[in-house]
Formats: sequence, structure tokens, C-alpha cells
Amino acid sequence: NFGSLAGDEVLRFFAKKLQQICPSSSYRVTSDEFVALCRMQKSDIEKVYASLRKEMTKNCRYYVTISASAIEVDGNIAYDELINKLLAGLYSAKKQGGDRIVFFNEQDRFIQEYLQMSKKVLRLRKNLEEALERDEFKLYFQPIMHIASKEIQKYEVLVRWQREDSLIPPSEFIPMVEKLNLIGRLTRYVIHKSFAVARQKNIALSINLSALDLLDKTLLHFIESCLGNLDGSQITFEITETAVLQDFTVGMEFLHKIKKMGFSIAIDDFGVGYSSLEYLRTIPADFIKIDGAFIKNIDTDKEALEFFASLHHLIKTTGKKTVAEYVENKDILDKLTQIGIDYAQGYYVGKPSPYLKGMDNDKNPKRV
Ligand code: C2E
Ligand code: CA
Ligand code: CA
Repeated sequence: NFGSLAGDEVLRFFAKKLQQICPSSSYRVTSDEFVALCRMQKSDIEKVYASLRKEMTKNCRYYVTISASAIEVDGNIAYDELINKLLAGLYSAKKQGGDRIVFFNEQDRFIQEYLQMSKKVLRLRKNLEEALERDEFKLYFQPIMHIASKEIQKYEVLVRWQREDSLIPPSEFIPMVEKLNLIGRLTRYVIHKSFAVARQKNIALSINLSALDLLDKTLLHFIESCLGNLDGSQITFEITETAVLQDFTVGMEFLHKIKKMGFSIAIDDFGVGYSSLEYLRTIPADFIKIDGAFIKNIDTDKEALEFFASLHHLIKTTGKKTVAEYVENKDILDKLTQIGIDYAQGYYVGKPSPYLKGMDNDKNPKRV
């Protein structure tokens, strides 16, 4: 790894060589991927590849490998199909150790593997896009209790995918939604719906953001445009510790802007990410949600309880409010009360539900 300057130099050098060999049409498609269209026989392409490789190893100051794939095209081929087949060949070249050229061939087992994967991804993408259009994502609400007053002061919004008869949990689709670049749409959908519920029922809600949302330049404008007459103090945004730390400058800037708009911030899954604690003091968060992993066993494991109490004490020195997740039974809640945690959330307090207790859409108003 020679850093990005060295990378740029290698890429420029490669682009120049490629242009010399294939002057008519060569393009850079991603940061380190190029496509060249040439009128050539297969044997000539092999020669071109060999000479490119030789030039790069001989004349470039850095050690580089070149993986390539080629496909013979006669007549018309759709752009997407062409790129997909080339990428399948490239996948095969890399799977075979890289630094080689692979010609597209449907018998190649890695090419088959890639084409199958890409078909699945395409289908999933279509399903997810349809789900967004058809309102198949449903909001569930889980109560968060203020321990001292025993009051439910807000609800965390948790999304589910209602697909025909099955309810798919977020862990099964959010990673794909992120990979397929659809998270911006899902986040906007959740925010738009949640704001409407908060306004309609006059309740406080806590909304999860994905790490990628922090990089989304237009999200804050969207949030502002949804706000209407809603009071920002009714909304908390939950952001995981790892999301903030992936790019600390960008993360902090985002948090400061959210705060300035009047919203509250909760740091989610606290304690399982990076170990540096310095940022805990400087981060503009109102709530720290201690990861469930630290809470699960405090009713049975003395060491876990002591560790948790110390962690809690450390957080409290920063003046931030604490929230405990995974409160699954009375013993855990009692321990949390003794330690002095501010808020509790978990199956014992209330499971995530599409109905809001005591609200218009409460299916069972007498439920305690
Ligand atoms: P999270 O933000 O840490 O949410 C808490 C998870 O713990 C939820 O899982 C909740 O159902 C579960 N949980 C609540 N109480 C208990 C308990 O007592 N015991 C145990 N074992 N689990 C409990 P869920 O709903 O499956 O959500 C999983 C994750 O998906 C969330 O973790 C969050 O990171 C993500 N997620 C959910 N909704 C959204 C969303 O709208 N946007 C984004 N970006 N992520 C979301
Ligand atoms: Ca959360
Ligand atoms: Ca969490």
C-alpha cells in the first residue's frame, strides 16, 4: 500500500499505456477499472494483454497486478449485459489468483457463479424497489421507559418488511438495502412516516440512521422539509458508535447539524465498536444506548454486573443520559434501577409492536 498518490500515478501510467495500444476507445469505468473496445482477434487481445502487463511491471515504479477479462461481441449487445459479462470474467480472473486475462465462456465455473449471484442481486433489487413503491415496509414501535418515573417517554421506530405473509426482520434486508444503494430511500421513507406519526399522536420517537446516511449530502434538507410544525425535540436520531467513527470529521459535522436543527441524538450500540473513549466526552449526544451485550447477563453474572456499573458510571461523568437495551426481565430492571440508569428498553418493558399503546391505533387499549 503506497497511498492514494501512488495509486493515482499507477492508474495514470496504465491509462496512457492502454490508450497507446487501443487508441480508438478506452474508458475508465470505476476507480481502477478500464474498458477498451477494439477490433481484434482473440490471439491479438492476448498479445495486447501480455504487452500491457510487461510494460507495467517493467516501467512502473510499483508492484502491480493486472486482472482482465475479454468478450467477443458480434452484432449488438446491451450495455448492461456487456458490462455484466465482463465483470463475470474479471471475477473469474481474480478468483483464479488474479494477474491474468479470462475470456468470457459460459462453461467457466466462476463466471457461472458470478452470473448466478448477479441474477439474484438483480431480483432482490427489483423486489426491494417494488417494496418501497408498494409500502411494504412497516413501522414497529418499541417503548422506552424513564426508569425513575416509570413513564413511557418515547418509542424506538423499528422497520420490518411485510412480504406477503411473512414479516422480515431488518437484519435480513438492511445490509442488502445498503449494498444496493437503496438505503437513502428507505431512510427517507422511515423518517417521513415517523414524523407523521409523531405529529399525529403527539409522541416522541427515536429513529435509526444507517452509517451511510451520514454521508448523504441532501438528507438534512429532506429532514427539514418533513418537519412542518413538528417540534424537533420530539425526535431523536440513533446513530451507532461505529457509524460516527468510520469518518470522525464527517460524523461529528452531521451530529452538530442535527443538534442545531433541534433534534436529540442517541449513540446506539455503545461499547461494542472501537475502544477509544475520548470521543465520548466531545460527541454532541444526549443519550448513550449501551449495547444489549453488556446488559443481557447482569441478573445472573456478578462480574458482568460490576463491569456494566463501571461503564455506566463512566458515561454518567460526561453528563449524558443512559439507556439500557435488552431489558428482558424484572431482575434486570431492578439492577438497572439500583445502578441509576435513566431509561430502559427491552421485551420486559414492551416488545416492538405496530400498535401504539393508548393511541388511536391501539388494538387492545386495556393491555398494560
Ligand atoms: P437496534 O437499533 O440495536 O435495535 C434494537 C434491536 O433489539 C431490535 O431488533 C429490537 O427488536 C431488539 N430488541 C428489543 N428488545 C430486546 C430484548 O429485550 N432482547 C433482545 N434480544 N432483543 C431486543 P430489530 O427490530 O430486529 O432491529 C435490528 C436492527 O436493525 C436495529 O438494531 C437497527 O440497527 C436496525 N434497524 C431497525 N430499524 C431500522 C431503520 O428504520 N433504519 C435503519 N437504518 N436501521 C434499522
Ligand atoms: Ca437503535
Ligand atoms: Ca442498539
